[in-house]
Amino acid sequence: MSKIDYVLNSIKERNPGEPEFHQAVLEVFDSIEPVLSKNSKYLEEKVFERMAEPERIITFRVCWTDDNNQIQVNRGYRVQMNGAMGPYKGGLRFHPSLNLSILKFLAFEQTFKNALTGLPLGAGKGGADFNPKHKSDREIMRFCQAWMLEAYRHIGHFTDIPAGDIGVGEKEIGYLFGAFKKIKNEFQGSITGKGPLWGGSFLRPEATGYGLVHFAEYMLAEVDKDLANKVCLVSGSGNVSQFAIEKLIHDKAKVVAFSDSTGFIHDEEGVDEEKLAFLKVLKNEKRESIAGYAEKYKSAKYYEGTEKRLWSIPAECAFPCATQNELDESDVQDLSKNGAILIAEGANMPLTDAAIKAVQHSNIIYAPGKAANAGGVAISGLEMTQNRLGRYWSRSRMETELRVIMQGIHENCQDTMKKYSLDAQDYLNAANIAGFERVAKAMVAQGSW
Ligand code: NDP
Repeated sequence: MSKIDYVLNSIKERNPGEPEFHQAVLEVFDSIEPVLSKNSKYLEEKVFERMAEPERIITFRVCWTDDNNQIQVNRGYRVQMNGAMGPYKGGLRFHPSLNLSILKFLAFEQTFKNALTGLPLGAGKGGADFNPKHKSDREIMRFCQAWMLEAYRHIGHFTDIPAGDIGVGEKEIGYLFGAFKKIKNEFQGSITGKGPLWGGSFLRPEATGYGLVHFAEYMLAEVDKDLANKVCLVSGSGNVSQFAIEKLIHDKAKVVAFSDSTGFIHDEEGVDEEKLAFLKVLKNEKRESIAGYAEKYKSAKYYEGTEKRLWSIPAECAFPCATQNELDESDVQDLSKNGAILIAEGANMPLTDAAIKAVQHSNIIYAPGKAANAGGVAISGLEMTQNRLGRYWSRSRMETELRVIMQGIHENCQDTMKKYSLDAQDYLNAANIAGFERVAKAMVAQGSW
């Protein structure tokens, strides 16, 4: 049996029924073979097996009362994955599909992503199987307070610092932070993604989407290209997508498609600043489907459901920014056939395993989320620094910090390609190796625990 099969079998046996977690672990293991063969110590010390076992998993009951005075019961989670580089750090997801497989894959990916930022951040991920859709603000507030009533004992600014993810934006962060402060009687940077008036950092909402586009710029520059006039597809229409679209417009690219869980929009004339402002109101304030965009703008067509695929639209650059496993092999084949040159992941693990293999057989340059979407957690890391200092940095400083960090991750990937004689533009293996090396070194230095 090959080493990969052996590891996959043992991961599957230890974590039955967790396909997303198996997928994420195997992808990294597949990449790090050259590191393991050079460093027998990592094998002797079972560093990879330790990384694939969360340090701690907390699951808990969350009871809250809805607007009809009915008690509702949800399940809350926090996976504290790896604390070798710093306090646990990673977002909270509120989505009815959430389970331990998804959280463990997200927390595992976070380990390497956070290490790539160069900031002192460990890794965690959490949330609840709560569906914030069609809930009143009061219901969301009561849910957040109930979640925190248990979680507060496991988090804190030197222990574990959650942030947002799918279904958790500034509103939810506000309710969670308010509850933490009330319970602990302390104003501390225990959560990031706060509003700038009450302890948040400038540029945190924009950071993941903007950072993604910066990373794509650096990738294209390596092959003597840029984003100007490139036709782009962006999936999703939430936090990451909105700010990716904003930055793409700024870079003179033409975004012709975006989506949500109901379907997608194809706007042949492209999204401009006015249309984006309308989209933000539709999604953030009205919390409605994107169908309303096509009602307002006649250049746009709305495709409901999944029959026609967003990725079948001819484009040069693709930015999946919605959720895991949203592109399959045939989507990548369509993109490649239509002449796409770049896929950069704003979402975490949006490509299936088969889709990644299809990319590797194409001429598309591809960046995994660990590298390309690390801008959000990087600015969260700097929000933590500002909270500890009690001083806040300007928006222009944060813009520079974000650009420098994304450039640093890109350079780290390029250096790793050379160090391990990887193929040119092999960001997948480079990001996995570079993140693994940092965390592995820290784990070995700290002894086995
Ligand atoms: P949001 O909740 O703001 O937006 C998510 C978007 O994706 C919405 O448009 C939503 O549609 C759509 N979506 C969610 N689930 C599905 C699904 N199962 N099928 C189709 N569409 C879906 O989340 P974020 O923008 O914050 O996160 C998006 C991705 O980026 C996630 O993978 C997240 O882990 C990743 N990420 C986020 C970071 C951040 O800073 N927020 C940092 C790094 C990664 P609808 O509106 O209909 O629900």
